[in-house]
Amino acid sequence: MLRHCINYGGRHDAGRLTADIRNEALKIGFAKTGFAPAGKTPFMAHFRDWLRDGLHGEMRYLERQAEKRGDPELVLPGVRSIVVAALNYYSGETPPSSPLEGNISLYARGADYHPAVMDRLKRLLRFIKSAVPQANGLCYADTGPVMEKVWGAETSVGWIGKHSGLVSRELGTRFFIGVILLDIPLAYDEKSEALCGDCRRCMDACPTGALAVPYRLDAGKCLSYLTIEFHGTVPPELRSLAGNRIFGCDECQNACPWNRFAVKTTVEELTPRKENLAPELLSLAGLSREAFERRFAASPVLRASRDGFVRNVMIALGNSRRAEAVPALKAALLDESPLVRAHAEWALKSVTGGH
Ligand code: SF4
Ligand code: SF4
Repeated sequence: MLRHCINYGGRHDAGRLTADIRNEALKIGFAKTGFAPAGKTPFMAHFRDWLRDGLHGEMRYLERQAEKRGDPELVLPGVRSIVVAALNYYSGETPPSSPLEGNISLYARGADYHPAVMDRLKRLLRFIKSAVPQANGLCYADTGPVMEKVWGAETSVGWIGKHSGLVSRELGTRFFIGVILLDIPLAYDEKSEALCGDCRRCMDACPTGALAVPYRLDAGKCLSYLTIEFHGTVPPELRSLAGNRIFGCDECQNACPWNRFAVKTTVEELTPRKENLAPELLSLAGLSREAFERRFAASPVLRASRDGFVRNVMIALGNSRRAEAVPALKAALLDESPLVRAHAEWALKSVTGGH
């Protein structure tokens, strides 16, 4: 349902243009598109409280440009509309893995999503500019001071779930979002209703208690943050909870009942690379920097850095409790990275019981 429909000084019909953008976005590959009027960013008080309480771990970049995050007018002067576009990455259920196989988060099994989203956003912006040549726009996909998820919840795309991610009644939770800021008016959606209700499955499924309080993810306890963004020593009490997760964690999403409607993506770049489905931990334990960069070229996994990633592999090998891991762990005691060496020592004790 449309909230209102504006005729823009007789030059274009906002309702028709919005419908055309929605159709074009579908053709380009976006699964769902939403439209919100620009204004001060909603949810900022919650975001500031979250930062103040240090729940963002070491993701200090989130503290930067807080003013711009709170006001898209500071990003694009004259901004009138926010277009939110969702790109489905769901690729099917994860087959069970053996203890000596690692788990890479579903979203990271294919190519890096940033170009996949950005290229499509830019195509959509070109389409808009071809319809309204005086329009100015800026595209963002995790690439600037724009709160994509929060804007998504201002549209029909979805609502913010208790696990802090965006949930869509059609797509579930496995989708990326990008936004286009535009300085022309459009016809805006009714906001999606928040449909978590009494459900708390994501909170109960979280292995580490990072979702003890709904809507307040404690990043310092989150395995997704710890295995991707955090490049230091993983707190010992969380290592055994990581299981075989070597890049990211999907538990809260896997638990979300709205994912029962998810359909597989047709976006080619996002389909999983075979070697990322159940990678053998022993083959990853000794990766050199060059080999890591080759193995994960143009993949989101590069974000973990070689040392952070091999650290994760050490933890997973420790959690495997399999004797086959011992030679690789002993070799890693001599790794050039002190981070890897320290986690190899822990893992060796975990496998051998300290003997
Ligand atoms: S990603 Fe994993 S560790 Fe992080 S909140 Fe979700 S279930 Fe918990
Ligand atoms: S699992 Fe339940 S509470 Fe969590 S995001 Fe999904 S619907 Fe909301």
